Amino acid sequence: MENKKIWLSSPHMGDNEFKYVTEAFDLNWIAPVGPHLNDFETNLSKISDNKHVAALGSGTSAIHLALILLGVERNDEVICSSFTFSASANPIVYQGATPVFIDSEIDTWNMCPESLEIAIRDRLQNGIKPKVIVIVHLYGMPAKMNEIIAVARKYNIPIIEDAAEGLGSNYFNQPLGTLTEFGVYSFNGNKIITTSGGGALISSNEDSIKKAKFLATQARDNAPHYEHSHIGYNYRLSNVSAAIGLGQLEVLQERVEKRREIFDYYKKELSDIKEISFVDEPNGFYSNRWLTTILLSEDSKVSREDLRLNLQFDNIESRPLWKPMHLQPIFSSCKYYGTNNAEYLFKYGLCLPSGSNMTETDLRRIITNIKRSFEK
Ligand SMILES: *Cc1c(COP(=O)(O)O)cnc(C)c1O
Repeated sequence: MENKKIWLSSPHMGDNEFKYVTEAFDLNWIAPVGPHLNDFETNLSKISDNKHVAALGSGTSAIHLALILLGVERNDEVICSSFTFSASANPIVYQGATPVFIDSEIDTWNMCPESLEIAIRDRLQNGIKPKVIVIVHLYGMPAKMNEIIAVARKYNIPIIEDAAEGLGSNYFNQPLGTLTEFGVYSFNGNKIITTSGGGALISSNEDSIKKAKFLATQARDNAPHYEHSHIGYNYRLSNVSAAIGLGQLEVLQERVEKRREIFDYYKKELSDIKEISFVDEPNGFYSNRWLTTILLSEDSKVSREDLRLNLQFDNIESRPLWKPMHLQPIFSSCKYYGTNNAEYLFKYGLCLPSGSNMTETDLRRIITNIKRSFEK
């Protein structure tokens, strides 16, 4: 018989999610409006430095609204991390704008501040000022924000923080998503906490968040009939989903602690295999360790793909790191600035199962499989 499937990262409910969902049913708030949605925004705000919050249907829609609020239009250029999930870049194209991709640095794997500045100067020399910078905190690890913000301020370009993978992480004690003009969270099924599908846009600017909610609910002007002076979107989170989110927020801290334990466990158990390395946190960086990622050495006798297939053979899901956006067919004509660090990470890196609901037995089984791969 096949061994039980071990997922990369599967939903992990706490004790109260079902209770809140039942409440939503009892009150008949089965709509993208209701008390659970309001409470979810309030509670998310409390853990996000009291920023203003709009709960939305996805992290992708949050990035889209942030771009709209920052005035991104047709033919604009928007700078974006290359090493990320496509949802960081797609909304740039929704606006008819063009992404310009920036490489990673090797300490955190996030946007390289030097490549960022080179890109901005080159675009300016070509007579184009990038409108916005979308930076990503990948796998929960904070980007080098002091350096990135310094570059952005120097050229006066606003930043959107894609913290879809970074809820519960901190940068010098500041929650990710709260460090710049706009922050974005995702509550998709595979993220550190989930509402089954959902996201949020956060900002210290109350007017921006009011406007985000207006646009997210079909941009209806104040009139008894339906009056519209803007193009609207149907981007609001459902009250039922928010009820799940209320329960999940209660266990966020536990989930972060568990994922960090899982990272420590892998690191300790695999310390004998010299071909495998891990990313450490620079001083002041606190990662939620959403996914534990490993990097194989260039001379490793087991390739990333061999290791992935060995694990898959035992019904264990692992996944190559994100394929950089500038290498994706759909973005192949976009500009890219860097020194191919992201390409290197994609070639040699693997995400290991990291779900907070894994058992000790699951972890043992994964470790045994990895060790066996290197013994062959
Ligand atoms: C998941 C994710 C998104 C998109 O979030 P959704 O809620 O799935 O739309 C955006 N950026 C990154 C880096 C992500 O991991």
